[in-house]
Amino acid sequence: MKRICIIYTGGTIGMERGENGYEPGKEPFSNIMARISDFSSPELPEYDVIEFSPLLDSSDVTVSEWNLIGRTIRDNMDKYDGFVVLHGTDTMAYTASALSFILRNLPKPVIITGSQIPLCEIRSDGKDNILASMMIAASGKVFEVCIFFAGKLLRGNRAIKMSADSLIAFDSPNYPKLADAGIGIRYRDNVLMKKSEAPFKMQEFVEEPIGVIKIFPGIRIDLFEPIITQKLRGVVLETFGAGNVPNYCTELSGIIKKAYEHGNIVVVCSQCPTGTVSLGHYAASSPLKKAGAVSGKNMTTEAAVAKLYYLLSCGYPKDKIEELMEKDLCGELDE
Ligand code: ASP
Repeated sequence: MKRICIIYTGGTIGMERGENGYEPGKEPFSNIMARISDFSSPELPEYDVIEFSPLLDSSDVTVSEWNLIGRTIRDNMDKYDGFVVLHGTDTMAYTASALSFILRNLPKPVIITGSQIPLCEIRSDGKDNILASMMIAASGKVFEVCIFFAGKLLRGNRAIKMSADSLIAFDSPNYPKLADAGIGIRYRDNVLMKKSEAPFKMQEFVEEPIGVIKIFPGIRIDLFEPIITQKLRGVVLETFGAGNVPNYCTELSGIIKKAYEHGNIVVVCSQCPTGTVSLGHYAASSPLKKAGAVSGKNMTTEAAVAKLYYLLSCGYPKDKIEELMEKDLCGELDE
């Protein structure tokens, strides 16, 4: 009999309406599950539930919760066939990206899920999301961190939250779905990660100062200079299209050069959900490249943020971080 571990961190799935809106419920999650007969179906793997305290709205999740989830999985790796992490949807794509770097060479599946409607309310999407996630976690077919939501299994570091209110809340626009849960669960072996030969290891993240700056028409980039050049060790620039920035931002290349000389990493991502950054393809992106920025290629902003934390936490020298930023480490980008 397969046995999986469910790690409950918070999120809408276990929330109740409070005075100021939805907040984590007081009742242990395992009690709620015990009341729903489907969770004791013999078709499911056996399971234990680990409940975090405090339970969080995922807006409050930080590097320390990512590390805590990582440690919980590492410490229980030998006891279970797979893991389901119940998490709020708002920052689920960040957590999925972070865990894909924290848990390197995963020998077992880590499936992150949640819901848009609490489990205790009518029409909740939580029950189906948990049931399928449990089956996938016990399937022995997945060796990576995934998000399962609304019938779709997605690579965690390719996923983004697409909708604030649809039940189909996640997608991975730059990578195919890993599996579909219809009448049965259909896995796509050609896009799933193969089991790594390398040993499993955990790399905790260090709370480095990292930022995301979204370019917009009319941006006064000079106002961001002290942040980019001194305050942050890593910056994700969310640019237009294939990595373009406005020409009138004449200060930008000087700022990036200064950041570069200061030892900071500037990663260029795109505001477009599909396609890739291609520095130098347009004159509008050449100055970034010349000044020392690195291409985030087709990484999501969520994955780029997580990768910056990861590479800085590994303590690599700056040129190695820049080199690895453009390489595929755990399925997060196409080289
Ligand atoms: N605010 C909630 C959270 O992210 C939203 C959700 O779970 O759907 O924790």
